[in-house]
Amino acid sequence: MKIGFTTSFPIEPILAAGHQVIDLNNIFITGKNTQLVQKAEKMGYPRNICSWIKGIYSVTFDADFDYVMGIIQGDCSNTHSLLVTLADQGQKILYFSFPFDHDKIKLAREIELLEEYFGVSRSDTMKVKRELDRIRKKLVELDELTWQTGKVSGKENHLWLVNASDFGGDHHKYETDLDEFMLEAKQRKRQNKKLRLGFLGVPPIFDDLYEYLESEGAQVVYNEIQRQFAMPYLKDDIIDQYWYYTYPYSVNERLADIKAEIKRRNLDGVISYTQSFCHRQIDNILIRKYLDVPVLTLEGDQPGKLEARSRLRIESFLDMIKYK
Ligand code: SF4
Repeated sequence: MKIGFTTSFPIEPILAAGHQVIDLNNIFITGKNTQLVQKAEKMGYPRNICSWIKGIYSVTFDADFDYVMGIIQGDCSNTHSLLVTLADQGQKILYFSFPFDHDKIKLAREIELLEEYFGVSRSDTMKVKRELDRIRKKLVELDELTWQTGKVSGKENHLWLVNASDFGGDHHKYETDLDEFMLEAKQRKRQNKKLRLGFLGVPPIFDDLYEYLESEGAQVVYNEIQRQFAMPYLKDDIIDQYWYYTYPYSVNERLADIKAEIKRRNLDGVISYTQSFCHRQIDNILIRKYLDVPVLTLEGDQPGKLEARSRLRIESFLDMIKYK
């Protein structure tokens, strides 16, 4: 079966059962995304709902999935209504929940339910996990090439890590491509003279952000959520892996990771990206409050290029850091 999903979740039991998993966000952001947003609006989705939700709706509507796995806790408050409208169009839906209280026993039960539903044992799941962890280990190395040597650019880092949510729908091909990329990247010259930035929050809807930052003399050497999608902690146990994964829980779990990485990567400042009409904008209050490096809050709405106002704000932010 081909199973689309709304955000990163434990894919190991599904792969162990021999099915294919596809991250709907990745199809949206690499497709004709403006038209996908407009299509959902034509179907009645309101203007003041996040573009990612509208994109996911249209992607699912157009594609041929056997099931959509909706992550109904730990991601997006709009997912419930998204799933109801998809079900109304005849799409079959499955559900997964990350416990908001970060309770390990509840998380373990959710993973067991997945295994029961797909008819696989824990040892089947762990076999796939070990295969994926071999790739994740290479992604940790790729991330190090970004922040330690600058041989992998912020955009390349973003793309490889964000695609680790579903490994492009084919983890064998993803690994072969990654091996080739790493071989080439290691031959490059070191580049670490620029301003060192972190990118926090959900992946940007802009398609030229990284290039623009580079052109202004800054390099992103930490992609917070994208790195989380690549499960960087390499925990031996499947429950631990998804318990240490920060994205589905409160902003406090994220803050602990962000603070450690700001220090480890010696960042000059961070861009805290927020999506228009996203409830996660509220988390930004605490991000600004508890980080002790300069923070630029950048808001994106529609897919496409950075608009003039955002470019100007980035430019002023970078000038301020340089001055400091
Ligand atoms: S950006 Fe926010 S509102 Fe949009 S899909 Fe993600 S969590 Fe939901």
